[in-house]
Amino acid sequence: MTTGCNQTVAIVGAGLLGRLLAMALNEQGYRITIFDRDAPDGRNSCGYMGAGLLAPISELEMAESLIAALGFDSLVLWPGLLQSLASPVFFQQAGTLLVAHPFDRSEISRFTQTVGNKLRDSLSNDPGFLDGFSRPLSSEFPQNKLGTQNGLQRVDSPDIQALEPELSDRFQQGVFIPGEGQLDNRQLMLALRETLDSRAINRPSVCWQANREIRDIKPHRVDGQSFDWVLDCRGLGARPAWPGLRGVRGEIIRVHAPDISLMRPVRLMHPRYPLYIAPRQLGHYVIGATSLESDDTKPMTVQSALELLSAAFAVHPGFAEATILEMGVQCRPALPTHLPQIQTQPGLVRINGLYRHGFLISPKLVDLVIRFLAEEPIEEKFRCLFVSSEASAGARQIRLKSQAISRENPAYAAAY
Ligand SMILES: Cc1cc2nc3c(=O)[nH]c(=O)nc-3n(C[C@H](O)[C@H](O)[C@H](O)COP(=O)(O)OP(=O)(O)OC[C@H]3O[C@@H](n4cnc5c(N)ncnc54)[C@H](O)[C@@H]3O)c2cc1C
Repeated sequence: MTTGCNQTVAIVGAGLLGRLLAMALNEQGYRITIFDRDAPDGRNSCGYMGAGLLAPISELEMAESLIAALGFDSLVLWPGLLQSLASPVFFQQAGTLLVAHPFDRSEISRFTQTVGNKLRDSLSNDPGFLDGFSRPLSSEFPQNKLGTQNGLQRVDSPDIQALEPELSDRFQQGVFIPGEGQLDNRQLMLALRETLDSRAINRPSVCWQANREIRDIKPHRVDGQSFDWVLDCRGLGARPAWPGLRGVRGEIIRVHAPDISLMRPVRLMHPRYPLYIAPRQLGHYVIGATSLESDDTKPMTVQSALELLSAAFAVHPGFAEATILEMGVQCRPALPTHLPQIQTQPGLVRINGLYRHGFLISPKLVDLVIRFLAEEPIEEKFRCLFVSSEASAGARQIRLKSQAISRENPAYAAAY
């Protein structure tokens, strides 16, 4: 990586991606100005509301293999990234346990078939597809059960007893995915802010303009102010610049349940009410999440609350005694492909469409953007994420530009 570059970069949107980019770019020597219409705690961002699951294989049920590939690389990057922050962030890679009630057992076969097929296809195209997915062994789980079936393992009663003793009397079958992770998203947002704040004091190369709604973004310019680069990370706030960008409403419930002891995220496979329960520190749990085609952020509906809480109660009756701390709502920024996209033109990069995978994929997306800015090569499998926003200006122009640019900048070339 090129370091010590002294260019100025404006980052518009200090949600999840904007904060991570600001950190990484500042480490590379760029001088950063961050703009956000929100207060520095980022309460109105999607990053503040998310559940922080890092589950590349669980998500494969509905996502493209490219998301898993970004997720595998990001899982490798997270530990180092978190270590560089000013305050601690809860992070663990204890795997994910997926369970189904006896009458929904077919959901287990459906899941293993769908995900298994995608993994097999990905491995036949790229035999190293799973290589980056490090799977620290869970101490509770017999080692001879791990590492088979390409990252997922069917489990039965004794396995569930070993992994999550409190669930073993209700669930006799499931799937275990070792190596999947989770982090505390709010600790992360806070730690990123504190780290950037401390840099702003120690070396005046970071400037954070909070409570500042940006209205005009152009190459090299943010509301009339000039920069070498402008990075548009506004999530759903960038809708005017992204035809097709839409909100997918997600609702979660945070509870305090000190009498429950779950070690890792548990997903309930259910035809109508799939949900996850993610343990946090000190007896806190995140129960989520709905997924509704709407960009309305009005408070949670009774129906969603009933669905989430009944499903959680059906997983572990101890949730009956839990205290509800919060019922939260946000909308995920989604593109029609449900893949992220990096739109480039000289002086302006727009990154969006992180959808339900922001935590899972952001470290690798940040790495790709930094490589692009530094004119370093981009791995072939990720080049399809880059799109030149000048591409819409006409085929001839695209061809000419592609020819001219590809000689000097492989990242630009990848965009065509
Ligand atoms: C309920 C829920 C659960 C989720 N769980 C997970 C999960 O377990 N794992 C996972 O990987 N992902 C999860 N996600 C998805 C993840 O939260 C998002 O993908 C991610 O936060 C998107 O990041 P972003 O930086 O693009 O957008 P955001 O985090 O929303 O940040 C956008 C920022 O831009 C600012 N902004 C917008 N417009 C302007 C403007 N005009 N001027 C200035 N500032 C502006 C906003 O204030 C905001 O701070 C979840 C999402 C939800 C809603």
